[in-house]
Amino acid sequence: MSGRASHRVSLQSPRIANSWLLSDGQGHTFLVDTGHRVERRSLAYSLRRAGIRRGGLTAVLLTHRHSDHAGNAAWLRDELRCPVICHADDAVTLGGREPAPRLARRGANAAYDALCRVEDRFPARSPVDEVYDEGSWRWGFEVIPVAGHTRGSTLLLHEPSGTLFTGDALLSGVPVQRLVSRLSLAIPGFSENVEACHRATRAFLREQRPVQTLCAGHGPRVTRKLPELFAALC
Ligand SMILES: [Zn+2]
Repeated sequence: MSGRASHRVSLQSPRIANSWLLSDGQGHTFLVDTGHRVERRSLAYSLRRAGIRRGGLTAVLLTHRHSDHAGNAAWLRDELRCPVICHADDAVTLGGREPAPRLARRGANAAYDALCRVEDRFPARSPVDEVYDEGSWRWGFEVIPVAGHTRGSTLLLHEPSGTLFTGDALLSGVPVQRLVSRLSLAIPGFSENVEACHRATRAFLREQRPVQTLCAGHGPRVTRKLPELFAALC
């Protein structure tokens, strides 16, 4: 657990990608990203242990539409009766109104390419109840679009607690592992336009906003030396 006194952020149990539960101390509880569908039982167990029952989530907030982040969004929406919220540019793909751009490409890293083929074949689908407004939004969140990992990839800064959720735009570990603590920008092999994502992420980091806790899409929570780590990426 971390954050200022009244806020709590905890990591839920899916292992492929991170799923973060944020309680804001004001009666709101958010799940930022939902893990891959193959880890649904693990997520369900983890949420039950955290005391989350039907009606207990204020919203599911998605950093982007990839299946290891949005894979349980539709299921949670049904099970817990909570809204699913994401960026408009990913909502059209999640909702099935536009096909997902293909990620797999000839000549890419073979392991990553295999994962991309799975993503291309089985993209996440979910109804989306609301889309983000850019900038200061609701419940203390600031929404910072960083298009390029996906078209709708987004940073979410929970200003009251100084918690930054970054999805795959900024990673604190190599996907699947949580142990390596090294910050890196979006990975080219998994991104639609990685240069654009890097540019937008760096522009945000250069603003030197007060971030107390980094909760990335992959890798461990990071709370130490964040200004130095951010500066090294810019
Ligand atoms: Zn991703």
